[in-house]
Amino acid sequence: MRVLIVEDEPSFVEALRISLTREGYDVGSAGDGKTGLEAFRDDRPDVVLLDLMLPGLSGLDVLRAIRRDSAVPVIVVSAKDAEADIVAALELGADDYLTKPYSVRELIARVRAATRRGAIVPDRETVTMGSATLDHSTLRLRLTHGDQDLPKKEFEVMALLMEQPGRVVPREEFLDKVWGYTWIGDTRTLDQHIRRLRRRLESDPDAPTIETVRGVGYRLKLRE
Ligand code: CA
Repeated sequence: MRVLIVEDEPSFVEALRISLTREGYDVGSAGDGKTGLEAFRDDRPDVVLLDLMLPGLSGLDVLRAIRRDSAVPVIVVSAKDAEADIVAALELGADDYLTKPYSVRELIARVRAATRRGAIVPDRETVTMGSATLDHSTLRLRLTHGDQDLPKKEFEVMALLMEQPGRVVPREEFLDKVWGYTWIGDTRTLDQHIRRLRRRLESDPDAPTIETVRGVGYRLKLRE
């Protein structure tokens, strides 16, 4: 398994290189966005750890370019912890978001999780609730006024809800099945995915809605 670290702070890179190498990963690194993109194209890593504040091309520019031709797991690791930054990264298709300072153990758990695949295997090609239909073959959410392409993780969160209508899906189940971990210090990645799905669903009065069940998780239900 190859990991590419795109990060301009050498001390971070070295700490990660040591830990990841010890875990058996093959580690490459790049200190700016442009070199990072070149390294990505040359090395074809299995996971990318991406800083946002980089010299030259920003982390978001790098992410956008990667997503044009690859579904490789990308974990954004950034000191930026504003909601807007997290949302922007997830909207561009980041799989996960970790804010600095982070625990190396947690980061490694997330890298390991990102390389495990195929957690969600649907029974059917499409599943429908109210006016919303989720299509597994195209990763699309169909609503009355049109189709929406969902980033992979957002699709998987929605699939878990749609497959179990009316059931409260615990937070741990989302983390386990969509991200592959349950131990996590920062659950904003899940919250952001829920928020974005809600925005999509709210635009259609006949679509179901995602209810928060405090302290437990989320439930999909039809609006009254
Ligand atoms: Ca930086």
